[in-house]
Amino acid sequence: MFPDEAACMAYLERARWSDGFICDHCGLLGEPYRFANRPGVFRCRHCTRDTSLTAGTVMERTHTPLSVWFWAA
Ligand SMILES: [Zn+2]
Repeated sequence: MFPDEAACMAYLERARWSDGFICDHCGLLGEPYRFANRPGVFRCRHCTRDTSLTAGTVMERTHTPLSVWFWAA
């Protein structure tokens, strides 16, 4: 079900923002900017601040691949 990091990220994104991305900083709802080299980081198009997909979770300050967390869970 979670073959790679991208699949894990996509799952977390849907779990956290089932109705679409909401900026942590200004509360704006809308499709954010994404970075190919920084998966899991979303930049608000309104206030241009970054929101991390894993912020506020046990995965926030880890370099363990998400796929390992999913395996552990
Ligand atoms: Zn914002």
